[in-house]
Amino acid sequence: MKPIFVDTHSHINFNVFKKEAVNLMEKCLKNEIWLLNVGTEFNTSKIAIDYANKFKQGIYATVGLHPLYVNTGVVELKIDKNEFDSKESDLIFDYKKFKEIASKEKVVAIGEIGLDYWYKPKTTAKKEVFKQKQKEVFIQQLDLAKELNLPIIIHCRLAFADVFDVLKNYENLRGVFHCFTGNLEEAKKILDMGFYLGFNGIIFKKDLSEIIKNTPLNRILLETDCPYLCPLKSNRNTPLNLKYICEKIAEIKNVSFDKIAEKTTNNATELFNLK
Ligand SMILES: [Zn+2]
Repeated sequence: MKPIFVDTHSHINFNVFKKEAVNLMEKCLKNEIWLLNVGTEFNTSKIAIDYANKFKQGIYATVGLHPLYVNTGVVELKIDKNEFDSKESDLIFDYKKFKEIASKEKVVAIGEIGLDYWYKPKTTAKKEVFKQKQKEVFIQQLDLAKELNLPIIIHCRLAFADVFDVLKNYENLRGVFHCFTGNLEEAKKILDMGFYLGFNGIIFKKDLSEIIKNTPLNRILLETDCPYLCPLKSNRNTPLNLKYICEKIAEIKNVSFDKIAEKTTNNATELFNLK
């Protein structure tokens, strides 16, 4: 049986959920919500797999090194203890090591991967190194996705031109631009490439209604990005809040709640081959 919703981007694998993680996932399943715990470095990827293995169905994992955790040597890495306690080695993209865990049964995507230019260094020379290093790691992870024939979850902030530039060298990649906050032109380009757009609680803060109106229903994925980007005023986000995001998208598209839920669930189960 299919769930009502799939949270295509959650981080119950982060430290901040540690004590309640299993209970929370059980609660999600009881509420007919499936979810992907998205890896951000080696350790969070491994925890995501451990969690997925605790359940027969409905909890899945992704494996990847987030661009913010690529050690470029030119900006200080900001590691939030609410996310993970990591060893330096967890932040090095070792192809063999990542491939070994990404080959596990419950791993349904490579992600989150991409480029993030938010914390860029100030000098031109350092900026070049910074972008180059992120790009190298992004490319290696795209190669891994290709080798394992897995879809990708892209994190892209202030870097669309460069992400497009990298992706154009690949054929038959499939995946999602998670937490999409770009402009209409960028959205159209992504849709033309055959990718999906992931929307979360940020749609309550930033007006993305034009983009949502222009995105066909068969290309929308729902996500929470919990513990971040809560659609409500409560402190911490969880996958149980997906209904609010669904409601808002239904309102913007003038389509019923049930139809948004059904279509986005189909999109997620298809893209990530969830069984
Ligand atoms: Zn994320």
